[in-house]
Amino acid sequence: MKVIEHFKKSNRTLFSFEILPPLKGKSIDSIFNFLDPLMEFNPAFIDVTYHREEFVYKKRADGLLERRSVRKRPGTVGICAAIMNKYQIDPVPHIICGGFNKEETENALIDLNFLGIDNVLVLRGDPIKSETYFTPESGGHEYASDLLKQVENMNNGIYLDDDLKSSVPTNFCIGVAGYPEKHFEAANMRSDIHFLKKKVEAGADYIVTQMFFDNKKYFEFVRMCRKHGIKIPIIPGIKPISSVKQLSLLPHRFHLNLPNDLVDEVLKCKNSEDVRNVGVEWAVQQTRELIDFGVPCIHFYTMGKSENVMKIVQSFA
Ligand SMILES: Cc1cc2nc3c(=O)[nH]c(=O)nc-3n(C[C@H](O)[C@H](O)[C@H](O)COP(=O)(O)OP(=O)(O)OC[C@H]3O[C@@H](n4cnc5c(N)ncnc54)[C@H](O)[C@@H]3O)c2cc1C
Repeated sequence: MKVIEHFKKSNRTLFSFEILPPLKGKSIDSIFNFLDPLMEFNPAFIDVTYHREEFVYKKRADGLLERRSVRKRPGTVGICAAIMNKYQIDPVPHIICGGFNKEETENALIDLNFLGIDNVLVLRGDPIKSETYFTPESGGHEYASDLLKQVENMNNGIYLDDDLKSSVPTNFCIGVAGYPEKHFEAANMRSDIHFLKKKVEAGADYIVTQMFFDNKKYFEFVRMCRKHGIKIPIIPGIKPISSVKQLSLLPHRFHLNLPNDLVDEVLKCKNSEDVRNVGVEWAVQQTRELIDFGVPCIHFYTMGKSENVMKIVQSFA
């Protein structure tokens, strides 16, 4: 079922979880062991992130360096199929521009369609570590809105090959990313919302936000989006702080601010368990306020840790 149909069918706030594929070499059981305890909280759907290749330099026997492509976390499509099969829950694979040309994207979408997957979250992807700016693949897409147009074309039966006759349309529900604290490359908030609107006009059905720790940022973002004519659901993304290190790691990696009160509480903690409790309590307060605000769904970033997210959703069981 499509994500937006889940929203339409429910008169309460739903929960969804975002998971990462395991590191290469681990078994699918690591995903099942991770998801099993979360299942009693009836997630409406489960997002599975996509991780593009990285490049490493290995020294060869002759002393020269060889550039090798490594994909640390492959398996997004397989995990989605396994989730449908084992839990009968709708998976939402993330698809990205980075590392794909249009033909590869089309083939991936055909695979997803044949598997009966109804949803995709369409993203650009970040620059790889060795780049300052994102570089599209040759013959690929530069922005999420371009990739989205390809998905939307396939939803209208338009494939890349003009010679194809009577192509069967796909029927993907399309989610996109939004940034309550602005995407780090955007000139300013208005420009970011301008380009977000382009994704909506190209056919996005709903928006999932980057994580934020101050609900005021989300409320203001929703207000600005509505003012600029963006009417689709905007799903807040929540992540509990789980270590002192994240006080610097999260702002660095996700370009966001942490509220003073949260930072103060974390710094007062005597051990890592105290930090986790502060993170959970903060996220519970955020979740409570967002439910009162009437959001259709809350998207929990698990980042490989289910215990904290479980404690949060338990408070609303
Ligand atoms: C919910 C969520 C899930 C994510 N999952 C993944 C994942 O699984 N894998 C992964 O690699 N990354 C993931 N990301 C990270 C995401 O790929 C990065 O944040 C990336 O830098 C931007 O992606 P985007 O889809 O928002 O890009 P875009 O919408 O393309 O925007 C990128 C930047 O370009 C600007 N822009 C957009 N269109 C134009 C235009 N036409 N001209 C000029 N400027 C433009 C925007 O304002 C923005 O600053 C996720 C992010 C979120 C919020």
